[in-house]
Order: sequence, then structure tokens, then C-alpha cells
Amino acid sequence: MKRTAIYPGSFDPITLGHLDIIQRASEIFDHVVVAIFENPQKKGKHMFSVEERIDMIEGSLRELGIDNATAATSQGLLVRYMEEQSIKVIIKGLRAVSDFEFEFSMAMVNKKLNDNIETLFMMTDTNYSYLSSSVVRELAGYREYHSDLITHYVHRRLVERFGADP
Ligand code: ADP
Repeated sequence: MKRTAIYPGSFDPITLGHLDIIQRASEIFDHVVVAIFENPQKKGKHMFSVEERIDMIEGSLRELGIDNATAATSQGLLVRYMEEQSIKVIIKGLRAVSDFEFEFSMAMVNKKLNDNIETLFMMTDTNYSYLSSSVVRELAGYREYHSDLITHYVHRRLVERFGADP
């Protein structure tokens, strides 16, 4: 049976920190679904549309040659999407203890909703422990782009949105 894992997030935009987790998960699983889930509390507060974020995920996966990961999106609850798609494993990246507290309770809730679902946590690479999509967005606002934070593909999309480096 094909082993599939889902890596949920907002990916606004996808960073090299996310892609490091995806790369490592793609070596353990046959297929990784990188899934954009709209947090209803953050609705309308994203910088990029779902379509733009999917495009940046797909472009970055191609650029890094990760060929067993695909992008997806759903409006519903993660666990219900996983049941529909017969996916049993959630991958989460952890950067700091502060991530852990939130992710721990999310994992408990998901387990309550479906006892067959497992959440696996992967530690961030130390190079990316400070990196988040909000750091990338903030720097892009000043037209600062760093190739050790994002792929060339995302860099091009940010330049289209914010303009070239000063
Ligand atoms: P962000 O927190 O950057 O806005 P998301 O909400 O899209 O990112 O997060 C999706 C998942 O990726 C979460 O499990 C989050 O902990 C993880 N993640 C985000 N950035 C990193 C990173 N630099 N290293 C490891 N995991 C990360």
C-alpha cells in the first residue's frame, strides 16, 4: 500500500523551512500532499490567494526536484479531508517550544476526531529555526529577498508583487 502523508499549513508563501520538512518527509513517505487549509479566523488576511500559493508550492517543488509531493487545498476540516483521501499521517514541523504547545493540542483534537490518525513531528533544520512566512512577507515589504529563505520561483513571484530589490 502507498504510504501518504499530509503536510498542512497556510504557506503564505512557502519557505525553504517548509520545503526542508517536505524534502525529508518525501524520503520517508511514497507521497506527500502539501495542503493549504484556510484557517477561518485568518480568512481574507492572507497576502497571496490560494491559487497563487498553490502555484508557488508547485513551482518550488519542481525547482527542488521533489517529484513525489503535490499541492492541494480544501475548505473543510483537515481530518475529514484525510478520511476522504484515505490519508492517515499528518506531518508537522517544529521550530521552537512555542510551536509545540499549539501543535500538541491540535494533535490531541485531531486524534479525538479520528483515532486512526497519527501526527508526526519533525524538527526544523537549525538553519531555518527562525524562518516563517511572516518573516518573508515582512522583508518583501522592504523589497528584501534572500535566496537562503525562499526558492528562486517564490523570489520571482515576490518581485512581481513588490518590485525589484532597491
Ligand atoms: P508559518 O508558521 O511559516 O506561517 P504555516 O502556518 O504555513 O507556516 O506552517 C505550516 C507548518 O510548517 C507548521 O507545521 C509549521 O510549524 C511548519 N514550519 C513553518 N516554518 C518552518 C520552519 N522554518 N522549519 C520547520 N517547520 C516549519
